[in-house]
Amino acid sequence: MVNTQAIRCPNCGNHAQRQFHVQLQVTETSCPVCDYLLVNCSRTGNVLEAYAPGLSYAPAFQEMLQLSES
Ligand SMILES: [Zn+2]
Repeated sequence: MVNTQAIRCPNCGNHAQRQFHVQLQVTETSCPVCDYLLVNCSRTGNVLEAYAPGLSYAPAFQEMLQLSES
C-alpha cells in the first residue's frame, strides 16, 4: 500500500510528490521538474537515497539531511 501526497519540491519549489510505502515504512520524495529525489526510512529517519541537481544551492535540502542525521 502506498499513500501519495502532493507537496512542494524542497529543491525547486514546483509541484512534487511524496509517497509513503506503508509496509516498507519508507518515504520517497520525488520531483519530476528538477529530478530531486529523497528516499528515507520513516521509522528511523535514515536517508536511504538522495539526489538533487545543484545540491549546493539547495539549503532546504541540506537542512533536511542534517535533520535526518540527528
Ligand atoms: Zn524540484
